[in-house]
Amino acid sequence: MIFFNHPLFLALFNTSAPRIILQANAPHFTIITYNEAYEKATNTTGRNVKGLGLWEAYPNNDQQSGGDILLNGLMEALNSNKIIKLPPFQYSIPSVDQLTTELNWWQLEIEPISTQNKPDYLLTTTYNITEKVLAAKTLDNFVKRESLLSQELAKSYEELASSNEELQASMEELMASNEALYESRQELKTVNDLLEGRIYERTQALDDNRKRLHNMIMTTPVAMTILKGPELIIELANEPMLHIWQRIQAQVIGNRLIDVFPELVDQPFPKLLTDVFKTRKRIAIPKIAVDISQLDGDNKRIYVNFCYDPIFDSNGQVECILATVIDITSEIENLERLEQSKAELQATIEELAATNEELATTNEELQEAQENLMLRNEVLSETEESLRLAVEAGNLGTYSVTLGTGKFQMSGRAREFWGFSQTAEINWGDVIANVEPEYLPLIEKARINALEHHLPFDVRYPITQLSTGARKWIRVSGRSLAATPEKSARFLGVIMDITAEVEYRKSLEESEERFRTMAENTDVMIAVGDESSNAIYFNKAWTVLTGRSMESLLEFGWADLIHPEDRDRYVDIYLTAFKAQAAFTGEFRILDHTGDYRWLLAKAPPRFHTDGSFAGYISSCVDITELKKDEQRKNDFIGMVSHELKTPLTAINGFVQVLQMKAEHTKDSFASTALNKAYNQIKKMTNMINGFLDVTRLESGKILIFKNLFQLDELLKEMIEEIDVIQSTHHISLQVEESITINADRDKISSVINNLLSNAVKYSPAGKNIEISCKTLNGFAQVSIKDQGIGIDHQEIEKLFGRYYRAVDNHTFSGFGIGLYLSAEIINQHHGKIWAESEIGKGSTFYFSLPL
Ligand code: ADP
Repeated sequence: MIFFNHPLFLALFNTSAPRIILQANAPHFTIITYNEAYEKATNTTGRNVKGLGLWEAYPNNDQQSGGDILLNGLMEALNSNKIIKLPPFQYSIPSVDQLTTELNWWQLEIEPISTQNKPDYLLTTTYNITEKVLAAKTLDNFVKRESLLSQELAKSYEELASSNEELQASMEELMASNEALYESRQELKTVNDLLEGRIYERTQALDDNRKRLHNMIMTTPVAMTILKGPELIIELANEPMLHIWQRIQAQVIGNRLIDVFPELVDQPFPKLLTDVFKTRKRIAIPKIAVDISQLDGDNKRIYVNFCYDPIFDSNGQVECILATVIDITSEIENLERLEQSKAELQATIEELAATNEELATTNEELQEAQENLMLRNEVLSETEESLRLAVEAGNLGTYSVTLGTGKFQMSGRAREFWGFSQTAEINWGDVIANVEPEYLPLIEKARINALEHHLPFDVRYPITQLSTGARKWIRVSGRSLAATPEKSARFLGVIMDITAEVEYRKSLEESEERFRTMAENTDVMIAVGDESSNAIYFNKAWTVLTGRSMESLLEFGWADLIHPEDRDRYVDIYLTAFKAQAAFTGEFRILDHTGDYRWLLAKAPPRFHTDGSFAGYISSCVDITELKKDEQRKNDFIGMVSHELKTPLTAINGFVQVLQMKAEHTKDSFASTALNKAYNQIKKMTNMINGFLDVTRLESGKILIFKNLFQLDELLKEMIEEIDVIQSTHHISLQVEESITINADRDKISSVINNLLSNAVKYSPAGKNIEISCKTLNGFAQVSIKDQGIGIDHQEIEKLFGRYYRAVDNHTFSGFGIGLYLSAEIINQHHGKIWAESEIGKGSTFYFSLPL
């Protein structure tokens, strides 16, 4: 390597030939060194590429074909160990600023340098021949163009020569033609002369024709004008035309149409005329509107049919136009008038149709009105008939009095009332004479009212009947009627014999008075209520007992006096009966004038009007305070006795049980049976005494309900088993649909079942069946106990649940009539229901239901 830095080497190496030494390590060809000329030729100045591979320093971009040439050259030098000269090739190198690449032309000489037989380095002389190549190319192009030019020049020269020859030939021809031409010209002159002669003749003829045409135009009754040239200069216009134009000859001839009639500018005519010049064809247009200016300045609209005929000159060109105009304004106007009349006629026809329709409607209305009239007539006849019937049925007499004369017209019935004969003439005076004098002012007042104030009148007064002399009450009602063209003013009305009514009312008043006297003088408390449940009368006994006036007792004032414990119950009894319009009874305590409460028993039958409608109640109350006290004493006594009886009975029961045990022990069967019977009797007696005690407890409000959940069907089973211990005469069956749990006082309900079961056994013959069923129905548990016993009369069924009540013919059976009473109270306290269905001789079914 020192070798490359050796001054001798450097002196030899740094020549003007661009050189580079590459290491022979194909394919990298590491750059060992290069000289300044090389740097310049390859744009490497300022860049150190020593130590880089050749391709690294000068990348073979885009695999350019120059790359292959260079590589092949290097490889060939390496392999052959001979100097290789490469032909010019193209290769891109980085530009001087290294930013782009430049495509340059290169010429290379590669000289292998070897120390042994294999090259170690390759000394490559690298000429950048780009400029040279480009210059050569330019020169080449120049030479090529020059040769091309000279070729073209030679060609042109040849062409020129041949043209020359042609020219020569033409000239000769020309000369020949010239001669021919001269001859022709002579011929032509002759022909021309001939022609001119003819043209003169033709022009003469044309002039004649034109004159004839002008004459014709000027004499024809149709409006015509001749317009000359595209300028449309009016050459000629005949009288009819001038008339349409409303101009005279001097105003139009020789002028442009458009100057005479500037208003035509906006109309289609100038265009149509110009078209005729162009197309050379006739134009004919019928019925067109033209606005022509009048001399006074106004425009007049006329309607015309017109046609434009082209007139040709001798060359066949349009020289002028013959315009023919036929004024059809009056026809059009006539037509318009006709149209208008037609429209008017149409309108009239329509109006007529409308009128016709109206007429038809009016006719229909008329028809309807007529039908209505007929209908009304019918109604009127019907009304008249009904009136007549009413008058007859109501036993009414009718009358009318003519006011001026005082003359009466009376129907036969009216005459009968008064006792006038059927034929007698009756005047105001005759009528007045029969009236009892004290009633005359009444009649006079009604008469004046009717006359002056046109009020209807209705008066009642007694008269002495003429024919019998009897006193009769009559009612006269009516009104005054104003005079009409047919009739004068009059009174009109009906007369009624109300004697019976007056007498009936009188007797009613008397009977009412009697009732009032009676009611006021009795100790029974009597009150009257109307159909709206309002009290309307309290008798004296009420005011005495309560110490209140009748007014303060009216309405519900009386209810305030009822003992708070009884009020709701009694008011409920009253209102329930009121709704049913049924009779009711009830007991309640009322506050008396001393501040003590008195027990009253009320009974109230409903009242009805004569037409059967409900009128309210008349109630009567009696003071049962003493009775109540007696009853209390009796209850207390029963309670006390029962209580006293219970103690020895309990002792007897104890002894009987001891004896029974003893008898069983000694196997004394007779004693055992006897004691068993004794035990059953004691049990019965205990039940009876308990019943009495319960009644007294109930009445003093000491029966209390203690509710528990229990199974009703289970209880029924237990009760049957229990009763079967003491009875063997009846067969008791139970039918349960489902197990039912209720919330109730188990002991109290068991005593109800016990009572119903005992009754079923008691009131039916031995050997009969008793069926018990238990089910749920509408939110209630319902139990029924059905026997085949003696039955109960249906009138008595409701009463059975009352205290101490026993059916009329059951005296063969022991009992006190308290079992059902107690049962009903217990069920009521449970908000349930108890009732019975029965038929005499067939059996009874007792039901009770309890809410679930
Ligand atoms: P008692 O049976 O002690 O008279 P109850 O209050 O139990 O009292 O019954 C009242 C009355 O109802 C009885 O006296 C009887 O007339 C009638 N009665 C009750 N149950 C029946 C029944 N199953 N069959 C016929 N009558 C009956």
